[in-house]
This record gives sequence, structure tokens and C-alpha cells, in this order.
Amino acid sequence: MSTPADFDADQPAIVVENLQRSFGSLKAVDGVSFTINHGSVVGFVGANGAGKTTTMRIMATLDQPTAGSVKVGGHNVVHYPEKVRRLLGWMPDSFGTYDHMTVLEYLDFYARALGYQGAERVQRIEEVMNFTDLTPLADRLSNKMSKGQTQRLCLGRALLHDPKILILDEPAAGLDPKARVELKQLIRILAEEGKTILISSHILSELGEMCDSLLFIDKGRIVHHGDADSMTRGSLASAETLLNVQVIGPPAKLIEWALTAPLMEVVEETKRGAKLRLKSVDEAVIAGALKRMIADGLLVTDFHREERRLEDAFIDLLGQIDKGTFKSEATANESLSANSTPPPLP
Ligand code: ATP
Repeated sequence: MSTPADFDADQPAIVVENLQRSFGSLKAVDGVSFTINHGSVVGFVGANGAGKTTTMRIMATLDQPTAGSVKVGGHNVVHYPEKVRRLLGWMPDSFGTYDHMTVLEYLDFYARALGYQGAERVQRIEEVMNFTDLTPLADRLSNKMSKGQTQRLCLGRALLHDPKILILDEPAAGLDPKARVELKQLIRILAEEGKTILISSHILSELGEMCDSLLFIDKGRIVHHGDADSMTRGSLASAETLLNVQVIGPPAKLIEWALTAPLMEVVEETKRGAKLRLKSVDEAVIAGALKRMIADGLLVTDFHREERRLEDAFIDLLGQIDKGTFKSEATANESLSANSTPPPLP
């Protein structure tokens, strides 16, 4: 079986438009829209129950939308599920193996189901086992494998038909740090090969490193789509700088100083100093604060800006949504287009 020719490279890899999926009165997915271009690696982030799996299952043709549409490689997932399945590799969050099958038998079973025959099937299985480092485990019964090995088998199965697009639902869940690093390396190689990858995870720092952009979903709605930096430093970060300062001598002296310094607030005392919040992101103001500390006699040994972690940015974002102070990109765009009406001609 070769890669399907029926693939429109001029169309984005994935287009989701106003997708909705309700279970009774629950709107699990509530008007989700986004586009993923070919070759991008996109992280899908959201709290438990936010709607990630439901969205991904519809993309993978395993569920149907209540309204809206999803196109994969230009094909509507409801009207052309077979074409979509040829283009798409799906790795579910919970994965059942057949206890009585070895790794080799398992992959062989799926390769046959996909239509591979003879030497081509043998070659494809070998390639997948090499890539996922399962060759030494070829004769291992699948119920005797570790979580990390099972995840690699699941990824191997998803890669059998060499799909152009991969949808990976929580592939790193439950893996130890070493297995997570190994999985991350595999995903990186797949990205370098030019595959389009949508990957959900709760381990945000890893997603930030791996992904070109992040899609944040909350209560069935996309609340942010941008790169990790824009999340931690950009529009969502408020106009303030967190400073980590260490001094020689008691931290109390630094804290006393900070309480009277302009634009400065004390976040917390630390072992050798304090975390401070400066209500500015202006480089000159930051440099001025350090200059003043030294001029006022503080013996500063360390002064650095604290990077906001993606987790903190995400929690802040959810807090803003709960308080009703968050303005989503969609809302911002709406007001932009409303304001962009040209002025009347004189
Ligand atoms: P998690 O991170 O916990 O996997 P998620 O973001 O993937 O969460 P979903 O699994 O998409 O969330 O679930 C979204 C909402 O839809 C949840 O409230 C869930 O209980 C509900 N839900 C999902 N599938 C069904 C179903 N088949 N029947 C009824 N409710 C469902």
C-alpha cells in the first residue's frame, strides 16, 4: 500500500470550523475553529474535560459532530472518512492491546488490515519496529510490556500506513522521564520528516519545547492559539516583570528597600533575597531598579528576570476567563474588524 495520492497539498492539513459536539445538554465542544498548516506541530492544551479528546476523536472519524465541520487534507471527515483515515495516524489516550499477541503479531495484524501484502508488509513492519525501537521486543507478548513500550507500540501502529498527519492524544501520560524524552525524540524526528502533528498533553513545558504553536481549549472553546512565547511573554502576560534578587546579608533589608521603591512590590521572601514584582516591562526601568538597589547600598549577588512558566500562564489565563476579564483572540478580532470599517469619504 502506498501513500494515497488523493491528497490536496494546496489545502491546509486540518481545518476545523465551528465544531460542536453535545452529549445531552453538555456542550463538550462548543464552536471550535482553527486551521493547522502542513508540517506544523501543534500542542492541544486544556484542563480535564475541556474537550480535547472529543475534538480529536471527531478528526479521527471516530465520532460525529453535532454541528460544524472538520476537513483533513481537504476531505470532510463525515463525508469521506476512508480518505481521512488513509491520511491520518491516530494514537488514542487509552490503548488496548491483545494480550495473546506479540509485538510482531500485533503490527502484522494491523498491517494486513491496512492492506499491506507480502514483502511490502514485512518491510513496513520492520521500518516501524526500527523507528520505535521495538525490534528487540518483537516476540514480547503485548501484555508483558511496560507503559513506555506499550506507548511506542501504539505509536508504531499509528505510523504503519505512513500517514502525513498524526493526532496523538496524551501520548506521554503515565510515562517516566526517560520514556518521555524517548517519545519526544520520536515526535521530533516525525516533525522533521514534515508530518503535521496535533498532540495533546498536560505537560506544558514539553509541549512548549516541541510545538510550533499551542491551542488552548477551555469548556469546549478555543481561548488562545499562538506560540509558547506569546503565551508566556506576550499579550497574555501583564505589563510587569518578576525579578529574582539575591543579596549578601539579611533578605529583610532588600524587602524594606522594595516596599518603598517606585513600581515595586514584594512577592515573597526567599532564602537569600526576594522575588519582586516590578510594574513595568521597560528595559530602562528594570535597569534603573538594579542601579538604585546598588546605589542604596544593597550588596546584590543575583538579579534576574523570572521567565513565566507555561503552566503559570495557562492558570492565569483560566483565572482571567473565570473572572470574565479575559478577551479571547476571537473577541479581539471581532472588535478589530468592527473598528476597521473605513471612515466615510469627505
Ligand atoms: P481529559 O484531559 O480529562 O482527557 P478532555 O479535554 O479530553 O479531558 P473530553 O474527553 O473531550 O475532555 O470531554 C469533554 C466533556 O465531554 C467532559 O465533560 C466529558 O465528561 C464529556 N464527554 C466526553 N465523552 C462523552 C460521552 N461519550 N458521553 C457523555 N459525555 C462525554
